[in-house]
Amino acid sequence: MDNLNWEKALERLKNGNLHFIEDKLDGKLQNSSRREELVSEQKPYAIILSCADSRVVPEFTFDTGLGELFVIRVAGNVANTSTLASIEFAVAHLDVKLILVLGHENCGAITAAVQNQNSTADKNFAHLFRYITPAIRLAKSDDINIIVKSNAKLTAENVYKNSSIIKKAVDEARVKIVPAYYHLESGKVDFEI
Ligand SMILES: [Zn+2]
Repeated sequence: MDNLNWEKALERLKNGNLHFIEDKLDGKLQNSSRREELVSEQKPYAIILSCADSRVVPEFTFDTGLGELFVIRVAGNVANTSTLASIEFAVAHLDVKLILVLGHENCGAITAAVQNQNSTADKNFAHLFRYITPAIRLAKSDDINIIVKSNAKLTAENVYKNSSIIKKAVDEARVKIVPAYYHLESGKVDFEI
């Protein structure tokens, strides 16, 4: 059976987020029978590229259980090679049709990248900052949260541009990439940024 189309997948995320905002999580699909159901296969309906920040937990944010979301977490939610390969796997082998790039308020990785612009960072941090720097330039603002949004949008573009598998799927209208922004206090996700 075909996986959910991106419109329906997005609708589910929006509904789940409303539960989260209102402190009305279902807590569904997290028990032993669900685990048993998933032993032989998974059919997540959305890919979430999120920051590793402990305050941003996509499974809670969208009120989801086991086997619903294919989550990739990396500081600054950047689209490096490992990120792209993970997304490609979910698109090509699990037939997932929605990719959500989730930036968040007061992102520490973005803040660190901003503060390190004029100095030499350690090798691994430098790798991360390289992906964030274009968003800092694009934002033309010192406001971290404007840069966060610019980074989510730019990452969404890079996911498209730097993967032939994803580009083809998007061009054929099978897959949609949506940049989004998470508010720390309310738990609300803006799906149009
Ligand atoms: Zn972050």
